[in-house]
Amino acid sequence: MEYIRDKTYYEDLYDRHTVEDCRSWIRICTERGLPDGVKKLSKKEQQRFCNAIIELPLYFRKGDRYLRRKDTIQEWMEKDKERDDFIATHPAPVAYCPKCNQKMKLMVDELEEDIDNNLRMLFMYRCDPCKEKKAFYNDGEPYVFKNDFCPKCRKEWEKKYIKSKTKVVTKYSCLNCGNIDEFVLDLNDKPKKETIDSDFEKDRALFCISEKEGEDYRRYKTYDLPEMKRLAEEMEDKEKHKEIYEQAKNTKKLTIAELSDLLAKKLSADDFKGLVITNTEVTRDLIVTFTVQDTKSGRDEGHSRSDLKKSLTKMLDNTNWKVMSDGVSYKLGLLSGRLRGIDDKEVIYAELKEELKPGQVVTKSGDIVNL
Ligand SMILES: [Zn+2]
Ligand SMILES: [Zn+2]
Repeated sequence: MEYIRDKTYYEDLYDRHTVEDCRSWIRICTERGLPDGVKKLSKKEQQRFCNAIIELPLYFRKGDRYLRRKDTIQEWMEKDKERDDFIATHPAPVAYCPKCNQKMKLMVDELEEDIDNNLRMLFMYRCDPCKEKKAFYNDGEPYVFKNDFCPKCRKEWEKKYIKSKTKVVTKYSCLNCGNIDEFVLDLNDKPKKETIDSDFEKDRALFCISEKEGEDYRRYKTYDLPEMKRLAEEMEDKEKHKEIYEQAKNTKKLTIAELSDLLAKKLSADDFKGLVITNTEVTRDLIVTFTVQDTKSGRDEGHSRSDLKKSLTKMLDNTNWKVMSDGVSYKLGLLSGRLRGIDDKEVIYAELKEELKPGQVVTKSGDIVNL
């Protein structure tokens, strides 16, 4: 007998499982009945409750079964192919009777599979004249005829067969410990007829979704659902950090022209002039290098640098521009540094949030304070 079968066999099998899975879900929900609170509601509201409780999980069940269908069928077929290959490559060897040394008759060659899906062939032989038996696996391990030994004392026990028209009774008796047992084989015991599931095709159409629906579900689950989840988390996060979010939203976004106008005007009030912006570098943000001259005579390097930094920080407060962390350098009254302009308010929000240490909050006016 070959294991591998026509693909439709596996498709039917998979769909039968899907149908059974969905039916049992509906059965469980229906048996549970409506909670008392819901029973008091109008029919329409009861229907809505049922939809949420039954239909929505059912939708996911059907979709998930669809997503696993192709691979599962493929796996099943490969496994059966593997079984057939194993049988074909492990034919029964010839065995000789230990008593008369004649060739023994092969009675059974059977594929066995353990719970880890490891495959083994079992071969059983018999010598008709001397009634000798012999059995082993393809890896050489001998097979123990468990029925030949008393389970209590493990000594060989006696067997007697009593045959009638309808049954064969095997009586076991142990001469060593007196243990007795019997096994009845009912000859009228026919394999149970497969019950025909007359609703299968109808339910299959209902629960085994089409490729179109299935691919829609795949998209929904791969893209839409995570996106919805992300949006929900984002909303929750912004609700939690409401003040920071407001502050980020109200940040003044300056273009490069607006920035240089603002700086030139305000810096001259602090005795810095001749602002030049160069080396614009476009990344996710805009990074620029600036130079400016100190016009206040007698101001030394240390004061010049700290005054400029203070003045810049004040000017850029609540805008999308920042002095970069590499600071301001000074040579003979020429100061230079880098500024970073953030285009995306989401980035401003994320950075503001990051600046918060544990135990700090942002007040309504946008200040960070310790709790
Ligand atoms: Zn023999
Ligand atoms: Zn015994």
